[in-house]
Amino acid sequence: MDLTENSIVLRTGKFRESDVWVKMLTANHGMLTVFAFGGSRSRKRFTGCLDSYNYILSRVSSSKNGQFLNLQEASLLESYSNIRVDWKKQGLVANCIRFLEALGVNPVDADKIFLITKALLLFINKAESVHPMIPLLYRFRMAAEYGYALDASRCYTCGQSLDAGAFFLVTDGYCVCKSCKPQGIMSLYASKECLDILVHIQEYSPEYWGEYKPSTEVWREMGRIIDALVRYHLGLEWADGRFKKMY
Ligand SMILES: [Zn+2]
Repeated sequence: MDLTENSIVLRTGKFRESDVWVKMLTANHGMLTVFAFGGSRSRKRFTGCLDSYNYILSRVSSSKNGQFLNLQEASLLESYSNIRVDWKKQGLVANCIRFLEALGVNPVDADKIFLITKALLLFINKAESVHPMIPLLYRFRMAAEYGYALDASRCYTCGQSLDAGAFFLVTDGYCVCKSCKPQGIMSLYASKECLDILVHIQEYSPEYWGEYKPSTEVWREMGRIIDALVRYHLGLEWADGRFKKMY
């Protein structure tokens, strides 16, 4: 295999004295772990490239025995350096990356996942301040990209518009109107404002996610629904500082 790909450096680590492994998200092949031999010494081949959250052009080839991937060359396309110097931004991005690692990237969805993740980094890098719930929006969007978009405009049961708010059924993973809400089933209330933002997140690039200014209560509604939806459809839950597979 020999490929040249736009990639985002997710994490790096050293092994042996001067060699580096790089976990990266590529534009067409999902997540790859590649080895940069001499990576911590070879300034010429990897000039300033191997820092987390760099956007790079990478050339990768299989080793002779086909067991691992070598990073042959890299050039820096863009550096999201504000993230690296701001611990709050760094924490939010790290959470999104951990989610992505727990979820895995299907090769068929790789290009979409790459574009959204790149736009997210761009947005967080540029923003003056970033809301702590941004990683939740990213999880919600990823679920949508994996085929679990939430229909937040119509009641799942009767098809009526959800202009008066809705109830998200935790054990079924969809929204219904007040009249269709079954008794005795756990549901989460979503106001119209909450639903509008959820629809927007599914449609628009993360570059626009800084535009939402909901109240704390609406953020809470969104947070509860996103957590429940991600648990229901993707089987992932954030617990004890990491994402756990529920099934
Ligand atoms: Zn209904």
